[in-house]
Amino acid sequence: MLQLPDILLKQLQEIKGFDKEALIAAHQLPAITSVRLNPHKHSTAFADNEQVPWCASGRYLSARPVFTVDPLYHAGAYYVQEASSMFLHHVLSSHVLNNKPLRVLDLCAAPGGKSTLIASFLGADDLLVSNEVIRTRASILEENMTRWGCMNTWVTSNDPKDLGRLTGYFDVIVVDAPCSGSGLFRKDAKALDEWSEANVLLCSQRQQRILADVWPALKEDGILIYATCSYSTQEDEEILDWLSDNFEVKGLPVTTKDDWGVVETQSAKGMYGYRFSPDKVKGEGFFIAAIQKKEETDELKPVRYKTLQDKQAQAQTKHLLDVDYTCLQLDKDNYVAIHPAHEEDYHTLKQFVYLRKTGIQLGTPTPRGWLPSHDVAMSIHASAILPKLELNKEQALKFLKKEDFPLPDGTHKGWILLTYNGLALGWIKALGNRFNNYLPKHWRIRMEISDTDWA
Ligand code: SAM
Repeated sequence: MLQLPDILLKQLQEIKGFDKEALIAAHQLPAITSVRLNPHKHSTAFADNEQVPWCASGRYLSARPVFTVDPLYHAGAYYVQEASSMFLHHVLSSHVLNNKPLRVLDLCAAPGGKSTLIASFLGADDLLVSNEVIRTRASILEENMTRWGCMNTWVTSNDPKDLGRLTGYFDVIVVDAPCSGSGLFRKDAKALDEWSEANVLLCSQRQQRILADVWPALKEDGILIYATCSYSTQEDEEILDWLSDNFEVKGLPVTTKDDWGVVETQSAKGMYGYRFSPDKVKGEGFFIAAIQKKEETDELKPVRYKTLQDKQAQAQTKHLLDVDYTCLQLDKDNYVAIHPAHEEDYHTLKQFVYLRKTGIQLGTPTPRGWLPSHDVAMSIHASAILPKLELNKEQALKFLKKEDFPLPDGTHKGWILLTYNGLALGWIKALGNRFNNYLPKHWRIRMEISDTDWA
């Protein structure tokens, strides 16, 4: 039996909607599995499953499949995400007007659940900076964002303080803060083992530090979205009060429907928060709040820069993408496609942060023609005219394991995008009925796959 810490239960007693017995009972049930569909990569995957009420692209699954053996997972057709946290979509739709190009920062972004959601919410001329301070986690984030396929999602790996130097730069900042994790006890036994009062306190101090460090980067009237997967008020409502004590802010309410089971709370200073608990919602424990900055904030002056646009590389790559883009040469053999309006952002960001991923990596020129990158294959803008070859599931998994299989007779020689259910998995260079596999090594499926998985 999963036992919730007594101290935690005692601390939650005063919270609106808290029902001790119901919460304990809900923790004896398995965690709920859900995915969010990629609106730019349509497939048959889970399309007819029950919808998550607060997020049109969210779907519940009746059991947890082995996602690794689903080629559509590797194609970026969906992201496996806990349902409560998809409420971010509802918060964005409620408070973020998309009537001018936006700059959005997702400060604590790995592995990429919120960032892929934000990317799907934004328009092509908006820019999402997806940041993760821990380098090893930043590489997972980069992989997930590449798979999601958007050109306007860039990845940085910096301390919040570095991003705070971009004064008044962002219209929206999302802080999905590192926390004590009590909301995920059903999913993660480690979170339960590691939970302690002392850790809650440590987390709340770290949350304040993170928010104080990044606060200068938010524009006046900009929106901060703060979230945790902790039930503790010290990490939730009390953080909102701390913000209210230290900065000029306005708490923003979000309309919910009664049958969603979301509980609206108000902190001592009247700031709105939204609580999710598994005895009330079909999802795990979560907390989210939207706050508007009401302080005069100077905005960074536009930087002067010499364009890095490379017209020759642009001409050599224009067959790869079906979208207007500017090709920049960032350094030797590093060519990227970005939205034409985003070059100034590149030069500004570069002064303050480490840019791991800027737009779509295009690949490299070689004496025998352009060598396209895996980013192009994963991009939602990969050109419709590129040669493609549709695979069955067994072939798709073999490609993803970097194993050989024969190509059909008559397959044309050269670069081919392999697809499954119409979605690209990666490049091969075909040589008759053999091929060279250009899936990056670290993307390869390492798991043993049994005969039943091929079907
Ligand atoms: N937003 C992510 C998602 O939806 O997939 C989950 C983020 S997780 C709750 C919090 C993240 O904050 C972790 O990736 C962690 O590495 C990062 N983190 C840890 N310490 C941090 C710090 N001092 N400043 C900023 N981020 C930190």
